[in-house]
Amino acid sequence: MANPDDDTREGVSDLARRRFLKGLAVTTGAAGAVSVSGGAWGGNTLSDAFADFFQQHYQRMTADEIATTIERIERKAKRQYGVEISCANTPPQEGVVFGYAINISKCRGYRDCVHACVQENNLGRDTQYIRVVELDRGSTDLHGADHYYDHANVPMPGKDYLPMQCMHCDNPPCVKACPVEATWTEPDGIVVVDYDWCIGCRYCMAACPYQARHFNWATPEIPADELNPDTHYLGNRPRPRGVVEKCHFCVQRTRTGRQPACQEACPTGARVFGNLLDPNSEIRYVLENKAVFRLKEDLGTEPKFWYYRDA
Ligand code: SF4
Repeated sequence: MANPDDDTREGVSDLARRRFLKGLAVTTGAAGAVSVSGGAWGGNTLSDAFADFFQQHYQRMTADEIATTIERIERKAKRQYGVEISCANTPPQEGVVFGYAINISKCRGYRDCVHACVQENNLGRDTQYIRVVELDRGSTDLHGADHYYDHANVPMPGKDYLPMQCMHCDNPPCVKACPVEATWTEPDGIVVVDYDWCIGCRYCMAACPYQARHFNWATPEIPADELNPDTHYLGNRPRPRGVVEKCHFCVQRTRTGRQPACQEACPTGARVFGNLLDPNSEIRYVLENKAVFRLKEDLGTEPKFWYYRDA
């Protein structure tokens, strides 16, 4: 990894490449895509816009640069929403790698997880990180599933419900596809995005076999009185238009010992989240004692997201 303190040449070359690729993404994108000159943030000041432009990749910033960047993010949120937010930069915990399992026998298709995720993670109200699909009982055929069922009377007789979101693959094709390294795997296994480094090319979306990534065609619309002020740089801070986002295992919560919002919201206890390295964790119990499976295992993506049914 480059040391941001000792040589500006690499930084300049990074910036030049990023500027070029961003321009390419804009000029080759569909109508209505990102407008660099228009600015992705509403009401930005000239000095903050200038600082945005020269902002370094998250992994190459010094601690001081990260602190300055976070102050700017908090200022922009205040200008945009009139809300004081705190943007944390909590690092991964030593000896922790997160994993998730879902008991399909317990999922009733209520989508409480979906709605909790939208609120917690400051999603635009037309975006959802979690998709609950309706399947014939006992089936795992996603092609034959209803990905957008809209009847309220769930569960339907003879149906199973299977929630999907980012699987935080151990071998993530999305990370390999990104031409500017705007997405990577953290030491705790969370696949994250630096929204300020993403050029909006959407190669990661094409590479993801689980349709887990979402592109912001417009600035996400969040009612100011519903904005969650407890945010993380790599998580639920307000995102601009023209970038890709996805589930980040509620990094703002899970790195401080809390459960993801979707897990807490589930009224049936279908969701099990925890530390894969802790032999006493519930997730380890599930993996060692249940007949777990993963989606599209043949692709070799190695999801850290499992499913199982009660015997
Ligand atoms: Fe990447 Fe998709 Fe795997 Fe998430 S589910 S890590 S977005 S390939």
